[in-house]
Amino acid sequence: MARIFWVVCPGCKERFYAHYEDFRHKPWKLRCPFCELEFAQEESPRIDE
Ligand SMILES: [Zn+2]
Repeated sequence: MARIFWVVCPGCKERFYAHYEDFRHKPWKLRCPFCELEFAQEESPRIDE
């Protein structure tokens, strides 16, 4: 099973998950599936690994 981490969107505050190997500590921006905001993971108010 692929490792994931949970991230809270800084825009709508909804929580969703992303694949750890693909995104965590990478420069790629995350896209919120709820409001489609693109943001750097450092902008998230909360990340649960
Ligand atoms: Zn959002």
